[in-house]
Amino acid sequence: MTIAAKAGNLFRVSPMRALRVQQELPSSLASGTRQRGHPLATLLSNLDGMVYRARCDGRWALDFVSEGCLALTGYSPQALSELAGLTFHDLRYPDDREAVSLAITSALERRQRYEIEYRIVHASGELRWVLERGAGAYSEDGSVIAVEAIVQDNSRRRQVEQSLAEAERRYRSIFENAIEGIFQSTQRDGYVTVNPALARMYGYDSPAELIASLRDIDHQLYVEPRRRADFVEALERQGYVTNFESEIYRRDGSVIWISENAREVRDADGHLLFYEGTVEDITERKRHDLQMRHQATHDAVTGLPNRLLLHERVSHVLAQPSAGEGPALVFIDLDQFKLVNDSLGHEAGDHLLQIVARRLQQAVRDRDMVSRLGGDEFVVLLAAPMCRAQAEHIASRLRLAVAQPCRVAGRELSLTCSIGVSLAPQDGADLKSLLRGADAAMYRAKEFGRNNVQFFSSEMAPQGTGGLDLLMRLHQAVERREFVLHYEPKYELASGRIVGVEALVRWQSPEGLIPPGRFIPLAEETGLIVPIGEWVLRTACAQARAWQQQGLPSLPVSVNLSPRQLARGDIAELVSEVLAETGLAPECLELEITESAVMQDGEKAAAMLARLRELGVLISMDDFGTGYSSLSYLQRFRVHCLKIDRSFLLAAPRDPESATIVRAVISLAHSLGLRVLAEGIETAAHFEFLRSTRCDEFQGYYLCKPVPAPAFAQMLRSQQMREERISAFV
Ligand code: C2E
Ligand code: MG
Ligand code: MG
Repeated sequence: MTIAAKAGNLFRVSPMRALRVQQELPSSLASGTRQRGHPLATLLSNLDGMVYRARCDGRWALDFVSEGCLALTGYSPQALSELAGLTFHDLRYPDDREAVSLAITSALERRQRYEIEYRIVHASGELRWVLERGAGAYSEDGSVIAVEAIVQDNSRRRQVEQSLAEAERRYRSIFENAIEGIFQSTQRDGYVTVNPALARMYGYDSPAELIASLRDIDHQLYVEPRRRADFVEALERQGYVTNFESEIYRRDGSVIWISENAREVRDADGHLLFYEGTVEDITERKRHDLQMRHQATHDAVTGLPNRLLLHERVSHVLAQPSAGEGPALVFIDLDQFKLVNDSLGHEAGDHLLQIVARRLQQAVRDRDMVSRLGGDEFVVLLAAPMCRAQAEHIASRLRLAVAQPCRVAGRELSLTCSIGVSLAPQDGADLKSLLRGADAAMYRAKEFGRNNVQFFSSEMAPQGTGGLDLLMRLHQAVERREFVLHYEPKYELASGRIVGVEALVRWQSPEGLIPPGRFIPLAEETGLIVPIGEWVLRTACAQARAWQQQGLPSLPVSVNLSPRQLARGDIAELVSEVLAETGLAPECLELEITESAVMQDGEKAAAMLARLRELGVLISMDDFGTGYSSLSYLQRFRVHCLKIDRSFLLAAPRDPESATIVRAVISLAHSLGLRVLAEGIETAAHFEFLRSTRCDEFQGYYLCKPVPAPAFAQMLRSQQMREERISAFV
């Protein structure tokens, strides 16, 4: 604001203050006293700032100036006298002087008070901002005699104002240029402020257009009209919402996914002012989640639902309350499929499976589900209510559908199948027991010469599974510590260097080395995994520390954590105890968890992982691609590394769609700040494909199988020597 404009703004000053100056000054100043002993002089000298009275003679000769002059200008009152040839006007900064004179004289002419802000030159040479408020003293005939004013140092306020303006400019720039949408809204008025990014995201030309057009947020914005109420309800309940995901309509009617984070803003008395928050467009991520979920729940060869989806559907169906007949499970195994595969090749085998899949689907009703378990095994879920006679009828239809001749690899083939059926609820109350029953019945069908249908009956119940025997031996193994760790190197893709190692447990039983796949599920089921897992953690950490002490490079060692270990709730204590005991630095330990481990109780798992992260250990998501495969989980659980499962990569080298998905997963994981490792790189084709991606690390039999500790140490030592030689050479 210019000085003159400010003078025109005189009545911004509280009239009380202006009046006070006017009343105090004339009585004393009219006498022109400069005596120190005068009571008013003391009063004036105590004022913050300086008071003066000057003649309006163009020279602004001072009749009076208070003691505050020294503090404000660095000159004593005596120094500012006509005698000394220096007036207060001379101290005004030359660039401002004319404007100040003009502002004062024009205010006096109009008989108004004035308030002006300008700079003076302090005796030290430094410039200072001052605020001067004053008014004229008039003779009886109304002509101006003098001006009386108080001048105060305004530098601090000016500084504060400047930094406020600077902060405001900065925040405005963030607001205007953010990629995320930012808004303030109220329940009554809808959006009150939005930034350009939000307008763009919602398809409007400008924030103003959005605010004007989007009045009914409930119906105009959210695809699901209840979403706004849910949003407000969550805000009212806890004061904030995080990652609130919804589908919304853009202005042109297209639909996108957004994620909102918002909070309530209240005034000092606790009254709600508005909601404020940010909006992110997560459509891409959602699309990939869906694609990946499809891939994780469907079989790549036939496109049929796989075991995971079958499990979900059966669990859902069995959870429905029903008084009478339940669903049925039909287990179909192709007879002598292996022969076709071996003699005509895998491609012909795949083609045949696709034909069978189509026929099975055509032979059942829409509400039934045909799935492929793997190999030549299909399972059909027949929706409830399903009686034995009806199931028998459908199973025979399926058998006949498969038996129709077909052309594969230029040949006419006739394939048969063996079918076993189990009925809920009498043959089992969950997928596992129903499947076991149908499987046993299917074996009976094979025994009866194939190409027929059998129903489960109790005498088929599998006996002597060895379960009990195995359990007893496993108990003994825990007591006798019959375990050993093998180590599988992790390589950096770009350089081929070993950058980490995974510890994998084996059971040294009297019958030989047993791989984890054979005993971990049982250990998990019975809780024996807890002592086994504790032993693995201790041994792996102690081994890693020992390698470091032998002068080998310190690499993170990975230890697999089972869901059960994570669910117990004391894993963070155990890890910190083991680290302290072995002296291993936390960043040298990586814990591998699976999605299913964190799925069961998301809240608890997130808290547990947060505590582990606080310890400083690394966390990776193992076997990604075999479970729910949701990138949202990765973001929620904030892991450091994503391990893409071997099965996820299997098809990639020859199937462009799978390759695209793998690449997208890698780049999305990178954008979430994760390292990506590919597991189970077994062949040159996998490796070549991997090199065409931006994957960070890999492990697999292609370069090295898991090996005992001394062999791994040897590998590390060779790498170290090689690098030392190269660096000596360079
Ligand atoms: P995982 O953590 O995904 O470990 C990778 C498995 O893939 C290992 O099998 C490894 O030997 C195998 N593998 C590596 N490269 C290739 C390859 O190129 N081709 C093939 N076909 N396989 C490859 P392993 O040692 O049999 O372990 C199997 C699973 O057992 C592990 O999967 C892990 O889930 C579990 N496991 C192993 N050790 C432990 C342990 O100490 N605690 C717990 N809770 N689970 C463990
Ligand atoms: Mg693992
Ligand atoms: Mg794995």
